[in-house]
Amino acid sequence: MSGDGAVDATTPTGAWLDRDANALAGVLHRYFDVVAERGEGSWLIDLEGRRYLDLAAGIAVANVGHCHPAVVAAIQRQAAALIHTSIVVHNQRNVELAERLGRQAPFLDEPRVFFCNSGAEAVDGAIKLARRTTGRPGVVAFTGAFHGRTLAATSLTTAKARYREGYGPLLPAVYHVPYCVPAPGRRGEADAVAAALAGLDELFTNEVVATEVAAMVVEPVLGEGGYVVPPVAWLEGLRERCDAHGILLVFDEVQCGVGRTGRFFAAQTFGVAPDVVLFAKGIASGLPLGGILAPRRLMDGWPAGAHGSTFGGNPVACAAALATLDVIESDDLCGRARVLGERARRRLRAASAEHPGVVVDVRGVGLMIGLELVDGQAVDAVLRRCLERGVIVISCGPHQEVVRLAPPLTISDEELDHGLDVLCEALGDLALEFNRRAGRAAS
Ligand code: PMP
Repeated sequence: MSGDGAVDATTPTGAWLDRDANALAGVLHRYFDVVAERGEGSWLIDLEGRRYLDLAAGIAVANVGHCHPAVVAAIQRQAAALIHTSIVVHNQRNVELAERLGRQAPFLDEPRVFFCNSGAEAVDGAIKLARRTTGRPGVVAFTGAFHGRTLAATSLTTAKARYREGYGPLLPAVYHVPYCVPAPGRRGEADAVAAALAGLDELFTNEVVATEVAAMVVEPVLGEGGYVVPPVAWLEGLRERCDAHGILLVFDEVQCGVGRTGRFFAAQTFGVAPDVVLFAKGIASGLPLGGILAPRRLMDGWPAGAHGSTFGGNPVACAAALATLDVIESDDLCGRARVLGERARRRLRAASAEHPGVVVDVRGVGLMIGLELVDGQAVDAVLRRCLERGVIVISCGPHQEVVRLAPPLTISDEELDHGLDVLCEALGDLALEFNRRAGRAAS
């Protein structure tokens, strides 16, 4: 794992890791001591030519795989023609992409798009849009969520206290209420919904009147917080309360959007329409691009110049996004996400039944798959074993206790099966070790 000194310093990888450590800020954590040289579909290839099946897709970014030829060609074409305009003049790729994205969001009335460069910027922009158009200061966010690293996004983020430590005072008028986390196996779901919604109602009774709240910002699937799929009834409850109090419901679809849940937006997967939807990550296959989609009635209340970006909606990033959308549509990757997600969860449920002492829960939607293990140490061991066998999986959850799978939506059946074989072997190894330890303790 990163920084554990296991890499031989005399190898090319060792030498580059050394240079990395001496040149880059240590604050940027990396999961693994692997230096990637190339990406090919579902695979990353390192400096020594080792091939890794990438079940993380650069954290839910390479949705059409690494270096998809159509995306590469679109980037090359656009780079040769026009790289940058900023706000000095207009550019066609911006317009084309905004039109295409608007069509992907039929739940918004006359959608308009604001482009930026990242998920956190989209969150910041949405807070500004909501405050400016409602004239209210308050923002409600949900415990365990991750919204990014800028100060405003950090103020909303409670996936880990470490992400907030030492940065206070954070943005005022941000209120946190519990996310609706169903128990493993989704037992007692109705009670969980009632309790979470009661928490929200109490907030409005005890802490802040609802008429002072501009927006509720919610991940329709909790990402960094543990790949938790909330009950639809809870999302519906949020919608009802937003309607009742004139609050904007903002879906942060930075991680769960762009086909990953089996529809282009998770809003469609769950059948709950937000007022604002945020995207980034997978939209441009790795080029920096994020954005805010909102109905015209809202965007028209955000006057020209009230917000902006030098690079947001860069023509090359937009060209990459247009090509990404083409691939998602032509290869029916939303459909693939649904089918493959079910296949993976079935397989993992069978494995978890074999190793009940190791696996706590198998969950997810589409190709967002969470495998909760007994603790973070167990997950760490599984990640190492998988890497040794050439498969990249990462973790999430407040204690890194969840194995997170977010493979490219283009992954083949064989590749996915291979990845799951390796993961299940790693679970088996772990179960054996647990049994050995338990045996030793008993003797
Ligand atoms: N929102 C969510 C739901 C995310 O998962 C992330 C990134 N993990 C962000 C926002 C922040 O995105 P970025 O790193 O592009 O700023």
